[in-house]
Amino acid sequence: MGRGATAGHADAFANVCDGPRPPLQNLFMSSLAVLHASELVTLSGPKRPRFGAELSEVGIVRDGGMLVRDGKIEKIGPSDEIEKDVGDAKVLDAGGRVVMPGFVDAHTHLVFAGNRLDDFERRSRGETYEQIAKAGGGIWSTVEKTRAASELDLLAQAKKHANWFLRCGTTTVEAKSGYGLTVEDELKILRVMRQLNASRDTIRESRIPSTAPVRIDAAETEAVPEIVPTFLGAHAVPRGMSLDEYIEFVITEMLPRITSEKLAEFCDVFCERGYFDIDETRKILSEAKKLGLSLRGHVDQLTNSGGARLMAELGATTADHLEQTDEQGIAALNKANVQPVLLPGSVYALGSSRYPRAREMIEAGLAVVLATDFNPGSSPTPSMPMILSLACTQMKMSPAEAVTASTVNAAYSLNRGEKIGSLEPGKLANFVTFDCEDYRELAYWFGIPQTHAVYIKGERAL
Ligand SMILES: [Zn+2]
Repeated sequence: MGRGATAGHADAFANVCDGPRPPLQNLFMSSLAVLHASELVTLSGPKRPRFGAELSEVGIVRDGGMLVRDGKIEKIGPSDEIEKDVGDAKVLDAGGRVVMPGFVDAHTHLVFAGNRLDDFERRSRGETYEQIAKAGGGIWSTVEKTRAASELDLLAQAKKHANWFLRCGTTTVEAKSGYGLTVEDELKILRVMRQLNASRDTIRESRIPSTAPVRIDAAETEAVPEIVPTFLGAHAVPRGMSLDEYIEFVITEMLPRITSEKLAEFCDVFCERGYFDIDETRKILSEAKKLGLSLRGHVDQLTNSGGARLMAELGATTADHLEQTDEQGIAALNKANVQPVLLPGSVYALGSSRYPRAREMIEAGLAVVLATDFNPGSSPTPSMPMILSLACTQMKMSPAEAVTASTVNAAYSLNRGEKIGSLEPGKLANFVTFDCEDYRELAYWFGIPQTHAVYIKGERAL
């Protein structure tokens, strides 16, 4: 699929160069009419995260269509109505496929070097986390490889992984730093994210007609989703520093530098026994909040330490993981309107069966989000359809609830609910056509890619 898309871009560019120079608005202010989706899954609804019974309302328009102008959705409706307004718009016949907003992945560790194949094999033989760490594995092995990698090498690997997300139908990806743990290495990771976003713009600009032919390398045209950067300096304590020294370092050296260079929108902490406890997490996140960052947190993954309650106290945007969170934690999140981000991929990949209590959270009124937790150690998957499958089979969410949690609710959890996450007039035309007729097939068939085409701002990205 990736190759086809690359060739497609190259062909389009060749046509532009060979022909007469078209006015720019024909290239960038184009109109697109999408017709004949078996189901246009709009997720239309109130302009806020969905909770309770709203999670089940995905807003399907059968034989649906939409009109896109200048990268934004102008109109949604049945195909015969949209057809009346086609005018000179380019027509995309969805051919009876499902059309949905692109998935929004609200929790990943996208940028790292290498992999953890040896850890994976050791775990498959039954070795414990401690044994694996002793043998040179664990987070620290990824930190060492990431520090050793040049910014260019890191960018190349991140581009490859970012493209995987697109192939799974994801058009926006939150990405955390945290494999550097020095100022320079954390900045390097966050700059790679910035470059990924810039590379998407470069692809768009490179299609501007020019008198001189411009060569587009395959690597340069590798499409990527939008990246939302999060600073996770407090992922682990680096070797050679005490815990207190490192917390002081994160607060006095890292946070001011990262916020002054506007390299992150969110701050996250790995709040877990043996990493950063409740008081230490509070200290770091309070400073980040003062500097204008919104807050997320890895909490209650392996132990119930009261992390959910802390995120409620701090007014965080999200509390992530929550495998061990109890009723009090759920009630606290509800009272403070903190969105839970559930990560069943890591539970599955670690071979555990302790999934977060999604049903109780939904029944309590929480605006649940699902995400992949893509990372080399505990969740090596970029696939949101795989997460939908796990949510339905292991956490007893319905396919509709899982789709809402991985699109519009995820968008709100990234402060982008006004722009993406649903197909509604005024929002960006970030959408995917899937090779199926019923959206529930995305959660039902597992291990098989169903992505047919991906559009970002009305332009074909894949
Ligand atoms: Zn994570």
